[in-house]
Amino acid sequence: MRIVNGLLITVAKKRLLLAVLATLLGAAVGLCAGYFAARKVLLAQTDLRLQGYARRSIDGLSASTYESRTVLNLMEASAYRRCSPEEISYLRTLIYESHYLKEAGRLRGGRVECSSTLGHAPAEQPVMHPDFIQRDGSKVFRNPPLFGIQGRAVIAVQVGDAFVVYNPFVSDMDYAPRVHYAVTDVDAQTHSAGLLWGQLPQNPDWVLNRNAQAMSQDSLYATRCSTVNSACVTAYMSHDEALAASRRTLMLLSGVCALTGGLLGLLVACLYRRNKSLPHQLLRAIRHDALRVVYQPIVDLETGRIVEAEALVRWTNDDNEAVSPDVFVKIAEDGGFVGEITRLVIRRVLRDFAGVMNTRPGFRVNVNIAAPDLADPDFLPMLQQALDRAGVRAQSLGVEITESYTARQQVAKDTILHLRGRGHHVAIDDFGTGYSSLAYLHDLSVDSIKIDKAFTRAIGTESVTVSILPQILAMAEQLGLTVVVEGIETEQQAAYFALAQQAIRAQGWLFGHPVAADAFLSQLAENDSKRQPPASPARQPAAVHTAASYC
Ligand code: C2E
Ligand code: MG
Ligand code: MG
Repeated sequence: MRIVNGLLITVAKKRLLLAVLATLLGAAVGLCAGYFAARKVLLAQTDLRLQGYARRSIDGLSASTYESRTVLNLMEASAYRRCSPEEISYLRTLIYESHYLKEAGRLRGGRVECSSTLGHAPAEQPVMHPDFIQRDGSKVFRNPPLFGIQGRAVIAVQVGDAFVVYNPFVSDMDYAPRVHYAVTDVDAQTHSAGLLWGQLPQNPDWVLNRNAQAMSQDSLYATRCSTVNSACVTAYMSHDEALAASRRTLMLLSGVCALTGGLLGLLVACLYRRNKSLPHQLLRAIRHDALRVVYQPIVDLETGRIVEAEALVRWTNDDNEAVSPDVFVKIAEDGGFVGEITRLVIRRVLRDFAGVMNTRPGFRVNVNIAAPDLADPDFLPMLQQALDRAGVRAQSLGVEITESYTARQQVAKDTILHLRGRGHHVAIDDFGTGYSSLAYLHDLSVDSIKIDKAFTRAIGTESVTVSILPQILAMAEQLGLTVVVEGIETEQQAAYFALAQQAIRAQGWLFGHPVAADAFLSQLAENDSKRQPPASPARQPAAVHTAASYC
């Protein structure tokens, strides 16, 4: 039990560690994935926002261009004398009725001759040089000297000798938090793009090459161009600015993803654990016929002849660890599938030993059966079927039942009766470890007892366990039970039992370890070929073992 508990504690620790690691890993992966996915979504949203902003701005720009062209056309068609008071008054009317313009006038030799607000312009003024010449020949001036406004970009356009100045307070781009903009134009003569107004980013190439949609390593750009002239609006924003507004959302989404990732990790660990749990591994191994069966000889202590064998099951788990049958048989019992192990062992025994069993009528192989087998209504028919199929007599297949299984269970008694009735030899295993008395054994009506190795181990010691041995041997003799002694490892232990009154059978490393079927059969053949010297001192009546001294 301690071994089982120890193994289960180790397994539980491993599972806990696995679950914690999987949860942490899942959370970390979830956090990263969540952060990057949320970042991508937020940047895509910003991109859409920028595109909307650029579209609205270019629409405004187109409307103002349309108005300026209309005013310039009217001025060109004007019948008034150039810069006459009538024309200046007419210009004022045009500007008054316009939405986007603040000034209209006439130029001569690059200088303003008259305008709607100045009337006649001062004689002393610098010559204006166009910054861009557009496709249609119109000239564009940035911040014309007579009409500049501190801190505002002012644009003037000249067609022929007429010019208009845009009102910067109307034609400015809409305000949008953290969005930067640049209005660019292309000079028809040099074909190079330049800034009309707004602000260029540190790396202006992304704006000046005027791609409709672009994303540099650290910024997003959306550009829309006018259909009426060569001006374009680029709205742009750095990633940091785009994410700053959504930092909370970003953290929230990352947190949710980390949580989801953690839960998924835990779920995966649980599923993996379930699949890797010992019961699952064991069941898989049984279903894949991956359990091994080994055989240990049981000898007649007087002659040294191998007269029986015990079939013992072996299992190596997925981690390549050999699990003790004490542990996995218990797991199978708890899982309700120990019957599958019993079936597997019986099948193997009959496959490996049918020939020997039929040629050596005195030889027997014993299988261990578990408590659930005794209560399983399919057990006896299954056993009979297996024997019939292999053509083996029931006498050649013995059954070992652990003492504790049989205690106070009517169903165990009935099954034992049936087994014996069919000719099977029934032994009580690990005798002395349970609480059944010899009288109870009589009631159970078995053929033999296998004295537990704890008694053998105690031989040569002062332990009280040894003092009970003579009593057990005498009572077994009285009840006519064969005695098999388990766990004989030394000559001293063998010699102790050789002195007993009755015939004793012995099992233990002194006579042979559990081995695979072919090794066992070789051992059996070798054992046969030897002249059988007594395996231990000849049996003598020993005072210590007399029935009288047991009481
Ligand atoms: P068990 O039926 O009492 O089997 C004897 C155990 O003692 C075996 O342990 C065997 O390897 C071990 N043994 C044999 N000689 C010596 C020795 O000289 N010294 C020592 N210290 N040990 C010795 P194993 O194979 O580990 O099996 C442990 C138990 O697992 C078995 O005890 C039995 O109760 C159970 N078991 C094994 N195979 C099966 C099986 O096929 N079905 C069922 N239901 N239980 C099984
Ligand atoms: Mg046994
Ligand atoms: Mg035993």
